[in-house]
Amino acid sequence: MDEVQDTLLSGWLTTGPKTKRFEEAFARFIGKKHAVALNSATAALHLALEAIGLQRGDLVVVPTMTFAATAEVVRYFDATPLLVDCREDDFNIDCCHARDLVVNAIARGQKVRAIIPVHYGGQVADMESIRSLASEFNLAIIEDAAHCCPAYFRDNGNQEWKAVGCDAAISCFSFYANKCITTGEGGMACTDSDKLAERMRTMSLHGISKDAWKRFTSEGSWYYEIVAPGFKYNLTDIAASIGFQQLRKANVFLEERKRIAREYFDRLKTITALILPAEKADRIHSWHLYVVRLRLDMLNIDRAMVIDLLKKMGITTSVHWMPLHMHPYYRDTYNYKPRDLPVSSRLYSEIISLPIFPGMTEMDINAVCDSLKTIISEHS
Ligand SMILES: *Cc1c(COP(=O)(O)O)cnc(C)c1O
Repeated sequence: MDEVQDTLLSGWLTTGPKTKRFEEAFARFIGKKHAVALNSATAALHLALEAIGLQRGDLVVVPTMTFAATAEVVRYFDATPLLVDCREDDFNIDCCHARDLVVNAIARGQKVRAIIPVHYGGQVADMESIRSLASEFNLAIIEDAAHCCPAYFRDNGNQEWKAVGCDAAISCFSFYANKCITTGEGGMACTDSDKLAERMRTMSLHGISKDAWKRFTSEGSWYYEIVAPGFKYNLTDIAASIGFQQLRKANVFLEERKRIAREYFDRLKTITALILPAEKADRIHSWHLYVVRLRLDMLNIDRAMVIDLLKKMGITTSVHWMPLHMHPYYRDTYNYKPRDLPVSSRLYSEIISLPIFPGMTEMDINAVCDSLKTIISEHS
């Protein structure tokens, strides 16, 4: 709050020195050369695809188990998302299925340009397989790291932990209100490439060739040139003030989320009608989401009823997500059947996201676990 007040008193409200400072801190935190602050992760994904030159009719590999944003940005170009099924154990993209789809698309003469891996709920995807798929077919890796600020991983045999975002062509983070760190609305696009960073920066502000805010400082002048029809995706200094202070606490928030995930595990592990999320080896999960699966074969009610009963007991939960291929737009545009992506379709009917947030008390956790236990034992 002090940081925001400082910004307000400075008189500089939109993109300026606070945004620059946030970008520099963020780039250091992730281990990337450039960080471009934007007003959402959706904007970051859009600018990333623009910067790699995605064209109408191109294909982009997208997991079906994701949020709307990951695929809609592909549609902005009149390009096609190639929806891929997920793995049962971590809900992340199934690279074997992705490879089959890519091989078939290329055989049909289509051009596959990029892959957008998502780290479901904060469980880091299999980056080794994604990198090898990308290099085999020359795909750009545009990472949807909306759930990963921060999450960490290490590759096979490597002892060194790396922050998610360090090894894609462009990594996109979200600072939406419910994400691990927030600016209310906001996002960041990170890259090591000077060229991609420059293009995203230009396109984030009307395609104007220079940092527009410099025009108003002693370094700048009135003169600018429009080099492309850009967008209006810049982050304000007010938001960046929040982001800078949130970033300083990112690892503290992570510890809080880890604590809650551990407590959920300890209290729920004896319920046989539940399948709990497990952190995979060589991963530090961000625990943006804590998603449990119902063993529907052991229950006489479905997922929707469990959610309703929880709600009646004062526990608000959610579902992440109905897979994209089941939504009317993608289903009808591309003629998807649930059986085309069978693992995601089945998992969708089983999943519930339990509340998880820094500051969640012992009492809150008990209330969630006790309610869930009661409902399950009454309906087993
Ligand atoms: C939240 C989210 C986004 C979009 O983030 P915004 O900052 O709201 O644009 C993209 N992908 C995933 C997986 C998300 O959960």
